[in-house]
Amino acid sequence: MEHESRFAPAVMDALTREQRSVRMSLIRSRDTKPELLVRHLVRGMGYRYRLCVRSLPGAPDIVLFDKRVTIFVNGCFWHRHSCRGGRTPKTRRAYWCEKLKANERRDSRNAARLKRDGWNVLVIWECQTKDLERLAARIRKFFEE
Ligand SMILES: [Zn+2]
Repeated sequence: MEHESRFAPAVMDALTREQRSVRMSLIRSRDTKPELLVRHLVRGMGYRYRLCVRSLPGAPDIVLFDKRVTIFVNGCFWHRHSCRGGRTPKTRRAYWCEKLKANERRDSRNAARLKRDGWNVLVIWECQTKDLERLAARIRKFFEE
């Protein structure tokens, strides 16, 4: 249950402010299932990588130094994907809007910094890890380009 908190906004509303901030601080640091799937694919392709590199903007989840690639595996809710899972909750709307828009701004700022420094940035959304074959094809294509 707990490791799913990054992807399950429904429970968040039930938490106290303090509990919530503890959970929010864990968002980036946990091994989430979508991230494990992506790692598995990348490893299966024979690439070596490092995880959660804090010295780079946004602490990318997966970094391939030799290919100069950073991969972010983003939860649709927290990073405001344009899919169903990225919708802002109707309750406590102002709170969520502010919080999620700040995440979105931070994401794009980090991606811009990485690109400026010559990194290739691949964002994989949680909802895109449901079709693994398609995802694998996309990753392979990204690496080849
Ligand atoms: Zn999505």
